[in-house]
Amino acid sequence: MVIYPNEIENLIEKFNKLPGIGRKTSEKFVFYLLKQKPEFLNEFANSILNLQKNLNFCQICNNFSGIQNLCEICQDTSRNKSQLCIVEDIQDLAVIESTKEYQGLYHVLGGQINPLEGITPEKLNIQKLIDRVKKEKFSEIILALNPDIQGEATSFYLIKLFKPLKIKFTRLARGLPMGSDLEYTDETTLTNALKGRQEII
Ligand SMILES: [Zn+2]
Repeated sequence: MVIYPNEIENLIEKFNKLPGIGRKTSEKFVFYLLKQKPEFLNEFANSILNLQKNLNFCQICNNFSGIQNLCEICQDTSRNKSQLCIVEDIQDLAVIESTKEYQGLYHVLGGQINPLEGITPEKLNIQKLIDRVKKEKFSEIILALNPDIQGEATSFYLIKLFKPLKIKFTRLARGLPMGSDLEYTDETTLTNALKGRQEII
């Protein structure tokens, strides 16, 4: 393996830490950046530095809320407040929003239950969800979790948890391939999965 000067090696290592980015692609990124003008590099560096500034999470659903306490969806009075869609992360919320098929509210868990990796229900935004479900009158809760083992385990946990409340629980229609990731699902497939959602008995 070629060893480059420290400045280059350092940045290659940083890119290499990003999900799905291997050593070769990291090198490609760094050599691309080396050819750019200083203005571009400044802007690029500033975008990274500012990424976490002024970025809050909605106090109700955990979506991004900019500098406000509540996100645009929770503030939008035209949304259907009787439907709640539970998703693993904000990217899943975004992809469901892009289908324009769903007009209800969301709750972002911030992950899926995965005891092997130490992600227990306490580490997710589940207590907030319990408080919310008890307080607000939802007529339907849609489980839009990834169709994989952790998604199934999380769905099972939530159904058991809310069973006494006798709320209608639905899940996205089967047809999403097992092990797939919602955020990479195309809009048509997701729209169909939403339209064909099935009640969980
Ligand atoms: Zn919100």
